[in-house]
Formats: sequence, structure tokens, C-alpha cells
Amino acid sequence: MTARLLAGAPAAEALLADAAARAARLSAPPYLVMVRLGDDPASVSYVRGKDRKAREVGLSSTVHALPETTTQAELLDLIARLNADDRVNGILVQLPLPAQISEQAALHAIDPRKDVDGFHPLNVGELWAGRPALRPCTPAGILALLDHYRIAVAGQRAVVVGRSHIVGRPLAGLLLNRDATVTLAHSRTPDLGAVTREADLLCVAVGQAHLITPDMVKPGATVIDVGINRVPGEKGGKAHLTGDVHPDAAQVAGAITPVPGGVGPMTIAQLLANTVTAAEMQSGGQAAR
Ligand code: NAP
Repeated sequence: MTARLLAGAPAAEALLADAAARAARLSAPPYLVMVRLGDDPASVSYVRGKDRKAREVGLSSTVHALPETTTQAELLDLIARLNADDRVNGILVQLPLPAQISEQAALHAIDPRKDVDGFHPLNVGELWAGRPALRPCTPAGILALLDHYRIAVAGQRAVVVGRSHIVGRPLAGLLLNRDATVTLAHSRTPDLGAVTREADLLCVAVGQAHLITPDMVKPGATVIDVGINRVPGEKGGKAHLTGDVHPDAAQVAGAITPVPGGVGPMTIAQLLANTVTAAEMQSGGQAAR
């Protein structure tokens, strides 16, 4: 069997088209403000990509690029001003933050109604209570990808490998909200293969190249590979990106996301969809469950 490839680009385009149509119905373009500290090349590139995409779909976007030496008080002061600014619909503080700033303090300071990353404890609580709220972008993007390809979630045995706050935990919550039977595995899970082989829907967010080998995949399963790992090229060749799932798993799975080009495009698209949702909520609408 060769698995159906679940490419992110068409699903992301559909999500963005929907976000753009919803944005056009609002009285003003939804406004996203991103805050980045320091010059970490990955953060610079992520924020630039989000900013460009936001403008492409008709959103307003501003980036505050602050120095690496910014104090926590200065960052909290900026967040307070953005919270109070009625023109701003969404606020994103790009992680990781420099050592002198508590990530928790920064994320908790964002008005939950403008928390387009969905990391504020109020939004985390609403997710686990199964109530509408802004959802973390990568997990919500994965659900949008599954929906785009009409892959059933309800009633499926879902296994999520990795329990981070940005991917694994919220993804488990979202799958539970959609009536999957969910197992959340992590580094202390004994006999990981025995657990993953149970999965109709296997989602892997670990950050270890090819941790999941073909023998760990149930034949016909849907595999969502969130991992992005940079590995050196053979014989000193160019480095390339690869996932947490071994490519040969495509011979066993029924459907699988490529890396790169699977979950990645969904994350940015979901951020912009969340910004539109935040603007709708602030003008009296409701978020998705
Ligand atoms: P993270 O915070 O480092 O968490 C990794 C998780 O994997 C932890 O829960 C850890 O378990 C678990 N783990 C580590 N070794 C394991 C093993 N041998 N068996 C089972 N579980 C193991 O990572 P993250 O931020 O969630 O990111 C995970 C990957 O997704 C990374 O490659 C990242 O680059 C990628 N990512 C991609 C996107 C995207 O848009 N495509 C977005 C976010 C992240 P413990 O909790 O027990 O330590």
C-alpha cells in the first residue's frame, strides 16, 4: 500500500480563503500585532512569513521588533497597551523569549480575547472544557487538515505522541472534543510501538527524526507528522528537513502528511483564521468549538 499524501498547501489555501471571506464581512480588516524579541533567525523568519501572509489575505499586520535586552516590565507594558487598543484584534508574542523574561508572565498578560496563539490559561481551560475559544494554531490546523481531506475523527482511536503545551496536549484535547478515543504518549511511555499500533489516527509531535518506524504504524492508519527536524545531508551534502515518522511508513499507512509541506502551512493559516475569529468575537460573534 502507498499512503495518500495529505499535502498542507491546498488545505491551507482553503482555510485562508474562508478566513479572507469572513474578514471581508467585518467593518474593518482584522488587525494582528506580533511582538518579537531579539534576532533569532528562526523567529525572524517565522514572524516575517506570518506578516506577509496576513497582508496577502487582507488582514492588517504590525511587527514590533524589540531588542534582545528588553526587560519583562517593558514587554508587559507593550502588551498592556495592545490589550487596551481597540483597533488590535490579535496579539502574538513570538517564542522563545530571552532568559530575563518569564514566558508564563508574557502569555498570561495577553487579553484572552486577543490571544490568537491560544496559550492563555483561560483559553486552555475552555479547550479542555470543550467550550468555544481561541485554539492553539498547530493543533487546530491539524483538525482543519483532517476536515479538508474528509478524514473521520469521531469514534477513531487516536494516539498523540508528545505532550508539549503548544502541540501534543491541546491536540489531544481537540481530538477528544471531536469524539475520538485519545491516548497521549510521551518519553516515559513504555513500549511506544504497542501504543502507536493501536491508532487509527496517529499524530506525532516529538522532534526526533524517524522515531516512528513503519512497524509502529497500524496498516491503513492516518499519520500526522508534526516533527520538523534538520538533518545533515549524506557525505557532507546539504542539510534537509525530515519528520518524526520514517518515510517508509507511507508503505503501511492509509494517509500521511509530508514533511515539509504537511502540517507546516496549516499553522500560519490557522493563526490568520484565529485573528479573524478574534475580530468576530470582539464584534459579538462566537469562536469555534
Ligand atoms: P517539545 O516541547 O520538545 O515536546 C516534545 C515531546 O516529545 C515531549 O512531550 C516529550 O516527552 C516527547 N518525547 C521526547 N522523546 C520521546 C520519545 N522517545 N518517545 C515518546 N515521546 C517523546 O516539542 P514540540 O514543541 O511539541 O515540537 C515537536 C516537534 O514538532 C518539533 O520537531 C517541532 O519543530 C515541531 N513543530 C512543528 C510545527 C509545525 O507548524 N509544523 C509547530 C510546532 C512544532 P516528555 O514530555 O516526557 O519529555
